[in-house]
Amino acid sequence: MTDYRVGFGYDSHRFATGIPLFLGGVNILSEKGCVAHSDGDALIHAICDALLGAAALDDIGIHFPDNDPSLKNIDSTILLKKVVEILHTQGFQIQNMDASILLERPKLAPFVPLIRQSLSKLLEIEETRISIKAKTNEKMGFVGREEGIAVYVVVMIKKSYER
Ligand code: MG
Repeated sequence: MTDYRVGFGYDSHRFATGIPLFLGGVNILSEKGCVAHSDGDALIHAICDALLGAAALDDIGIHFPDNDPSLKNIDSTILLKKVVEILHTQGFQIQNMDASILLERPKLAPFVPLIRQSLSKLLEIEETRISIKAKTNEKMGFVGREEGIAVYVVVMIKKSYER
């Protein structure tokens, strides 16, 4: 018997000029980066929440509280590796993940292959199971005003049982 689960994750961060922008563990060439307790990798944070959500194991804020001084400026790839490890320990395998990243600038298309490569290593699945879609918000709302970034992610995980 195979137990399939879907998970959904969302994250947003405020932009500030002159700080680096990280997405999926890749440093993106950008005028603005994300203000955060960690390195502000909104894509990785949304993936962590999607994975934890699929396994019904709470959320990233419970596993990695943003008032924990040991997590200040932490590389978010470390958080994702820990989440993947938690899922593997529980017997779950990641099937695929699909993300929509909303931001006006910069254009992410040149970085998508690097992001997929990076996430393939972190999630321990093939790049063909990883989808990254980037779009603007047509100048509407906080994304449209270039005040921040929003990321939506779905994942599927599975656990197989002997019977
Ligand atoms: Mg976040």
